[in-house]
Amino acid sequence: MNIRLILTVLLVTIIGVWLLDSPTQNTALVPQPLTPFSAELEADHGELSGLERRYIRSSRTGRIVKLQNGQNLTTLLGGQGLSQRQVALLAMSAEPIIDLGQLQTGVNIEISHPKPGQHRIRLAREYGELVQATYVEGDWHVELLHVPTEQLAEEHDLVIHNSLYQDAEHNGIPNGVINSSVMALSHFVDFQRQVQPGDLMEVRFERTEVTSFKSLFSHLQNPLLLTYLRFTNSGEDYRLVRYKGAFYFPDGRLAQSFLLKTPLNGARLSSYYGNRHHPVLGYDRMHKGIDFSAPIGTPIMAAGRGVVKRANRYGSFGNAVVIDHGDGYETLYAHLNDFADDLKPGNHVKQGDVIGYLGKTGLSAGRHLHYEVHHNGRAINPLDIKAPAQARLQGAALEGFKQQLAQLKSADSQLASLAP
Ligand SMILES: [Zn+2]
Repeated sequence: MNIRLILTVLLVTIIGVWLLDSPTQNTALVPQPLTPFSAELEADHGELSGLERRYIRSSRTGRIVKLQNGQNLTTLLGGQGLSQRQVALLAMSAEPIIDLGQLQTGVNIEISHPKPGQHRIRLAREYGELVQATYVEGDWHVELLHVPTEQLAEEHDLVIHNSLYQDAEHNGIPNGVINSSVMALSHFVDFQRQVQPGDLMEVRFERTEVTSFKSLFSHLQNPLLLTYLRFTNSGEDYRLVRYKGAFYFPDGRLAQSFLLKTPLNGARLSSYYGNRHHPVLGYDRMHKGIDFSAPIGTPIMAAGRGVVKRANRYGSFGNAVVIDHGDGYETLYAHLNDFADDLKPGNHVKQGDVIGYLGKTGLSAGRHLHYEVHHNGRAINPLDIKAPAQARLQGAALEGFKQQLAQLKSADSQLASLAP
């Protein structure tokens, strides 16, 4: 059985300035109060600098062209009436915002001519982020704009027949959601061994969708956020609810260890702990951590409470952060593009604080986060951290959590475990 429902528009992130269209439309989209998940929202939508962001919403479109294999910006835009010099100038002007020399095949670019002699180029940088370049009187004016997005709740359930990944794919559950589920449950379930036919899974997640310029984002994966998860296995019935960036059991107990296994949202686990062939060095060596693949600039979170030990260039790790969590535990985050503002050794951080942004600095074959956990000076497999914390929500946090759980149950959910 598989129910695939787009349920409700949960919230519409509209804060900003209407740039191109008349402002009379903006009564249609009233700002909704944000849920208190500031950590998640930051991780999913970039920094919450809502007031200084410039939003763009327009139904006016120009001609859309797709970058084909073997094509570059000059050949593509040259065919659309721009001179070589104009294209070269464009690449230079855009450089602080986007490297137009590194565009990937399949990127959609919108070209329009607002007035005679003017040109306008628009293309996506990350999901929801639009680079707009306007050529007026010999100069390119380039800016980064945000397209309003909405969060759509979606839910699925499935009974496992073959393997979790196969069955999930057959049921149309996005890979990212299954990855998040496996990571959330890895504190309790050994997915290599324990999963059996007949096990039941239910997931509810939010899919971020742009409300306009959809075709310019069609080649990018929508950000997905797992919000509820149920899994029955070996007579156990696990129900996990996301609250403020962490998973809890319905009674408010923290359902994860003191260290996050996944210190970023929306990532794919791309390389496991253990021996492997090194893609850059070309020989087999021990991989002392796990790798996560995600877009450049994805915020990286502190895996747990602790003190920053280093935040600087660290040999083949490139830009790296090391956090000391006490009791002999340390975590390392490597190949970062950049550090969080003002992050310095000695800073105290909490679980979920943004410490840097995903990149490919150091000895790295491509963009990814390399994440290590050390205990008493030795690397351990981050996925093996089993001991769930005894922590439990209390006071106002527990009240907030209960309210959210009640909302989840009163939403028009079709999941058996959320039915009233
Ligand atoms: Zn690695």
